[in-house]
Amino acid sequence: LPVLAIVGRPNVGKSALVNRILGRREAVVEDKPGVTRDRVAYKAEWAGRRFTLVDTGGWEPDAAGINAAVAAQAEVAIDLADVVLFVVDSNVGATATDEHVVKMLRRADRPVFLAANKVDDSRQEPQASALWSLGLGEPYPVSALHGRGVADLLDLIMQKMPEVSNVAKQEVGGPRRVAILGRPNVGKSSLLNKAAGEERVVVNELAGTTRDPVDEQIELGGKVWTFVDTAGIRKRVHLQQGADFYASLRTSAALEKAEVAVVVLDVTEPISVQDLRIIDLVLESGRALVLAFNKWDLLDDERRRYLEREIEQDLAHVTWAPRVNISARTGRHLEKLVPALELALESWDTRIPTGKFNAFLAELTAAHPHPVRGGKQPRILFGTQAASRPPTFVLFATGFLDPGYRRYVQRRLREIYGFEGSPIVVNMRVRE
Ligand code: GDP
Repeated sequence: LPVLAIVGRPNVGKSALVNRILGRREAVVEDKPGVTRDRVAYKAEWAGRRFTLVDTGGWEPDAAGINAAVAAQAEVAIDLADVVLFVVDSNVGATATDEHVVKMLRRADRPVFLAANKVDDSRQEPQASALWSLGLGEPYPVSALHGRGVADLLDLIMQKMPEVSNVAKQEVGGPRRVAILGRPNVGKSSLLNKAAGEERVVVNELAGTTRDPVDEQIELGGKVWTFVDTAGIRKRVHLQQGADFYASLRTSAALEKAEVAVVVLDVTEPISVQDLRIIDLVLESGRALVLAFNKWDLLDDERRRYLEREIEQDLAHVTWAPRVNISARTGRHLEKLVPALELALESWDTRIPTGKFNAFLAELTAAHPHPVRGGKQPRILFGTQAASRPPTFVLFATGFLDPGYRRYVQRRLREIYGFEGSPIVVNMRVRE
């Protein structure tokens, strides 16, 4: 889906605007300094068109860190969004921080819209007009709180939003899109450099490629792949605070553009909460997943035993993800990355015909019927694969199926069909 990113100083009303665009009626979250909102990317829809809304302002720095933090947020937006919405508080006017960000935004070749927020009635419109001085073009007066002007602005934004998402373009045969993810120092840049080696290709005319300067086309195993947001991997950001938020913002935004993620782990260090958080972001995004255990050249026997135990304990929920044990330094087993990516993508693309899927369900329910609950036994009437990328199944049943039973269906699906490298989703609907 195309991406709209919202950027602005703390307290200008970004979360109110996000809520307004998402059409949520719940109370608006106050912009409080230092508060981290968990979600970064939201599915949104306007005038029948779907897009991803990225809220870069999930982490609000204290006064000292504002410049660096807002600049970092703007940078992610410029690199990874299709359209940027810059929000200014029209009651405050343009501050030095705003001007700093505007300089960055003007250099980017993305459409940028300027929202003059907190224009709650028409008498305040002159305040909005004062923001012409920022040099970003017309300021659009809006009131995120009351909704005033937001619909008109969204209509304009939609005109600049690309019609076809990057992923949809793949279907006409362009390179598959890979995100390399992982916490700092696990070896992402080393992996990228080693993989690219001499074979870095300059492809501008290739069918289906986006000419996005933050991505890179690399030939691996005789095929061209698009590595998304390589600019983000190469960049070193130095933030006093908020570095974690910045990293997860970058990760979420890169996932939006990718089809498959390679999560790089450092075998010399214990699997950390941060590693698991990144894997969670991949699972939430529904993208295919490959795990790369890097720095294998530094692994000794003792650490290796610990690592095996850690994998068993911490990665039990992603045993389906292909694992490659590599060394970005020596190049060991880098060639195994390609078959792992291909396997994961093939699973991600899989469609099981309805007839076959129902034969599978019939066999499953005959061998292992749903347990009786309160004198009732829900029966699965019919099932179908509603979508791929990732494979998503819907079961129609006579009553609510136990979560445990749904997990059993999922487990059997993996036993029979594999789906290595892809998350699978099993939903249900109750039919009388
Ligand atoms: P990034 O932050 O994830 O991009 O990590 P870098 O690629 O910058 O790597 C961090 C450090 O780990 C650097 O000093 C690399 O030279 C080192 N490194 C990366 N991969 C390997 C590896 O496979 N083996 C060894 N021994 N060192 C590595």
